[in-house]
Amino acid sequence: MILKRFIYLVIVFLLAKTIAAQDSIPSFIVTAGKLPQLAYSNGEDRLGSAKMGYIDTLIPMKVLDTAKNLYKVELSSYHYAFIEKTYAQPIPDTTLPIVLCESWRVNGGDEFDSVSFSLNGRVPYKSWMEIDPSRIKIVLYNVQSNTNWITQLSSAKAVKNVWFEQTENDVLQISIELVKQQHYGYKIAYNGRSLLLTIRRVPANANIKNMTIAIDAGHGGTNLGASGTRSGILEKDYTILFAKELQKILKKQKAKVIMVRETDTTFENKDRVLWAQQNNPDVFISFHLNSSGRTTAKGVSTYYKHIGYRSFTQSLLKRLLEIKNLEEFGNIGSFNFQPIQPTEYPSCLVEVAFLSNEEDEKMILDPKFRTKVANQVYLGIKDWIKGWK
Ligand SMILES: [Zn+2]
Repeated sequence: MILKRFIYLVIVFLLAKTIAAQDSIPSFIVTAGKLPQLAYSNGEDRLGSAKMGYIDTLIPMKVLDTAKNLYKVELSSYHYAFIEKTYAQPIPDTTLPIVLCESWRVNGGDEFDSVSFSLNGRVPYKSWMEIDPSRIKIVLYNVQSNTNWITQLSSAKAVKNVWFEQTENDVLQISIELVKQQHYGYKIAYNGRSLLLTIRRVPANANIKNMTIAIDAGHGGTNLGASGTRSGILEKDYTILFAKELQKILKKQKAKVIMVRETDTTFENKDRVLWAQQNNPDVFISFHLNSSGRTTAKGVSTYYKHIGYRSFTQSLLKRLLEIKNLEEFGNIGSFNFQPIQPTEYPSCLVEVAFLSNEEDEKMILDPKFRTKVANQVYLGIKDWIKGWK
């Protein structure tokens, strides 16, 4: 009887252990993989939940919970975020004491300004752009200021002022005020333990001839995109026609043009971002064709993620609206589409017209319309450059 009871207890214990192992979530992770990003919520729309932005790798964080393919991670006492499990590498249990932010250094190079923040550990962060006045804001989590020394060198040309505010006991907010109103790109990454902000300067000789323009023909290969309701044409076959028209026009203007794809190849959206980050274009333009269940939805729309790049997408839309019979669908902000998420360069997604609308579809099929669209995009780029302040 005692033996039976003992065996029973052992079985219960082993079962409990197996179940626990299956459900076990790591207590701590570090960010990992290519382009890890934090999200504000576990909410889903077609393109995923609203992103806080990309962050560097090897940043340790405490796991609070798990939901679907996400971990809920702690940023500071009162803040948390979500991260996809594919971007999280479990690490052994540890403690994450508050990190001190020490001295800063503002410096200028040939094309970039840099601001470095000394930290005695890697911490999560987020950043955003502000306009009028133009600023880059960075929030460092689990950080307290010990910053008593901010060196600012006259070689810095893009940065006007830098300062911070300890907004919570363990949250440090950093403000970088820019000289120019136009945002032209920045990057944040760890350099050892220092966090390094690199700011791209607005070119002094504003001319399309001196610019590298990246053109992205949406979809391709096995990624077909939408299809024409009447004609059955595929989005991927027509985005490339618009892209090539623009390439032709810009080359004539002596701009340097780089194409994400020139043939019918499969190219993941994440790889488009990695490609663009490597090629460092002045601007990035992505062509798509819209589609809706509502067949009356029609017209052209331009999209941005970061407010600092809105003026670029407005310039393009304004010119596109000069095209006869092309209606306005709108200028859309905070858009989740991956190729326009990077902060490194101004970008614009153009949804030229709707494949699901009869009139729009007819226009898309017309080569003259495609040339006109490309030409108006070119004029929009020129207008935008002229408006730089
Ligand atoms: Zn598309």
